[in-house]
Amino acid sequence: MDIHNLLKKYYGYDEFRKGQEEIINNILDKKDTFAIMPTGGGKSICYQIPALVMEGITLVISPLISLMKDQVDSLNSLGINAGVINSTQSTEKVRETMYKASNGELKLLYVAPERLDSEAFFMLLQTLEVSQVAIDEAHCASQWGHDFRPSYRKISPFIKRLKPRPVISAFTATATIEVKNDITNILELRSPEVFVTGFDRQNLEFITYKNENKRDFILDYLNNNKDKSGIIYAATRKEVENIYTLLSKKDISVGKYHAGMDDLERKENQEKFLYDDIKVMVATNAFGMGIDKSNVRYVIHYNMPKNIEAYYQEAGRAGRDGEDGECILLFSPRDVVLQKYFIEQTVFSTDRKISEYRKLQSMVDYCYTTKCLRKYILEYFGEEDVKDKCDNCSNCKDSSEVVDITIDAQKIFSCVYRIRERYGVTMIAEVLRGSKNKKVLNLAFDKLSTYGIMKNYTIKEIKDLVNVLVAERYLLQTEEEFAVVKLTNKAINVLKNNEKVMQKVHKKKKAVKVDNSLFDILRNIRKEIAKRESIPPYIIFTDLSLREMSKKIPLNKVEMLEIKGVGEKKFEKYGEEFLEKIIEYNDENNIRNLEEAALDSDKSKEKDKKKKTPSHVVTYNMFSKGSSIEDICSERDLKDSTVKEHLLKCGLEGLEIDWDMLIPEEKEKIILDTIKEINSYRLKEIKEKLPEDIDYSTIKAVICKHKAV
Ligand code: ADP
Repeated sequence: MDIHNLLKKYYGYDEFRKGQEEIINNILDKKDTFAIMPTGGGKSICYQIPALVMEGITLVISPLISLMKDQVDSLNSLGINAGVINSTQSTEKVRETMYKASNGELKLLYVAPERLDSEAFFMLLQTLEVSQVAIDEAHCASQWGHDFRPSYRKISPFIKRLKPRPVISAFTATATIEVKNDITNILELRSPEVFVTGFDRQNLEFITYKNENKRDFILDYLNNNKDKSGIIYAATRKEVENIYTLLSKKDISVGKYHAGMDDLERKENQEKFLYDDIKVMVATNAFGMGIDKSNVRYVIHYNMPKNIEAYYQEAGRAGRDGEDGECILLFSPRDVVLQKYFIEQTVFSTDRKISEYRKLQSMVDYCYTTKCLRKYILEYFGEEDVKDKCDNCSNCKDSSEVVDITIDAQKIFSCVYRIRERYGVTMIAEVLRGSKNKKVLNLAFDKLSTYGIMKNYTIKEIKDLVNVLVAERYLLQTEEEFAVVKLTNKAINVLKNNEKVMQKVHKKKKAVKVDNSLFDILRNIRKEIAKRESIPPYIIFTDLSLREMSKKIPLNKVEMLEIKGVGEKKFEKYGEEFLEKIIEYNDENNIRNLEEAALDSDKSKEKDKKKKTPSHVVTYNMFSKGSSIEDICSERDLKDSTVKEHLLKCGLEGLEIDWDMLIPEEKEKIILDTIKEINSYRLKEIKEKLPEDIDYSTIKAVICKHKAV
């Protein structure tokens, strides 16, 4: 079956995402493949579709048990036979999966790299036709990567023992040049085609706030986003506990996760989050590896993380299903102090420490930059020609008002000056507010001219203002445990009336009231099914699919299959249950007419038949109108080999093709001679006899021309 049809039938998607089609074709051409795609970019489909097309089984090597289970559940729910073998399973279970594999019942088998040590496993594989080895999270092979796993080094010797050698595909979301070369060498990929689809995640909105009172902010945010799933990352266990307590008291459905908790409690909380039983997870960075939950709608960083790599990875856990996600970073200068402390605590070499400090500085600069945040991140990862404005980050969409706070700032600065830059934020606030606190009186601060000059503010409001001035670098907070606030040159200028202080006040985003009633009904039925089948809800349908259903209100099978993410198998399994609810809702609210919908979908089927030009025919039409292969590649953003494949396909379907345009003159004879010599049209045999630089598409073209003549 054609790969487009497979995409529609199993996954319910109409089009491939950037890079997917080329990667799949490359694997199907039996060429080793190395793909670097962002989180949520759709890597899995790139090796799963070839697994479906090729004879035999695909072995998928993946580092995390939880991820493998998720993937296999998800494949099975799509109607694709897949199994997993891991160390937590009983011998019985392992045997059962092995049996299924040897019976040819599985198209994909997931294993951890440690399994490659097992001789019994190797023996099993020898009895099977392994067509592809797909290596997920390939950066684990490199010592330079951030998740080095020594067992990834076993992959290459293992593959060498497999006869014949299967095609290898390797996937990762992060790879610097160093790591990329390392991976290619360690996995011994054979002249791999490397596909880099870029790091951008357009559905994520990046937001940084410097001047917020963090507690007020999250309470307000969660209040406005009650129904959504999200993660709040904090830098320390203590901070996690504090936020957790704060939110629990407000009756928010919240869980916590950090390395100080016992395994069982952590696991339970994680499951509850995956199953949508709790909406908010407050966690340290120990949480998230191996969590594929696709409907995380926001990730809030309560503290700034140590570097952009960590930030992008953590923030990237939002919106994996392609629906909008918010990534909010709440910055305060104290975060920098904490991160520096963490670096100092490590046993890293001096060089490594310097490198960590440098990365930290880039992170701090991100918090202060006024340019497009997306551009900043993408350029950090080495992307070129990034647009200046993305219109989906807090700097591009700046909706803040600017307020002149010079007078208040001067009051604060002069107070700092009068208490000789020797006290912290609390003392400053107390003096300005005119507190009768013992310490204030003992120090005779009630005699200062600045005593009580901000009486009309609360202590909290004054403290918040001081923090704003610290964040804007008018004041400096020292790095000791009891931080002291000092003036910077910027503040002196303000005191001398040479400069004004303008504060940006963010207009709070109020939740837009949307009618979610059908979406909520669908979400509930999804949750019921998830409980019944013991799989996380997002594996049944993504939020994106449910959202589309609640917007388009499909009333029959044809309309349901038009919803993104609803493939035939999924429809068979769950479609009717969802349809029933939608029809019920439609009846109650009188939105669409059932008969008209049936008529519409008949028409749309007809229209579809008439209208949709398959991708390969689009290429053919351009080619016939005189575009060169290069023109088509650049205009359609396709690879040379894909364009040639398209033309070949049209030729085979009987459209007229000038084969000579696809066959370099000097290569035709040698290919024909080889075919005669081995007296066979078997592509692989022919290819092996020919020089390396002659590719499959040229051979196929010669065969077609030859047979056609
Ligand atoms: P990755 O492994 O790259 O992080 P996944 O393979 O988990 O990403 O895919 C992320 C999400 O994108 C999944 O929900 C997947 O079904 C969806 N997806 C993948 N390919 C497509 C496509 N061509 N069209 C629409 N959605 C897609």
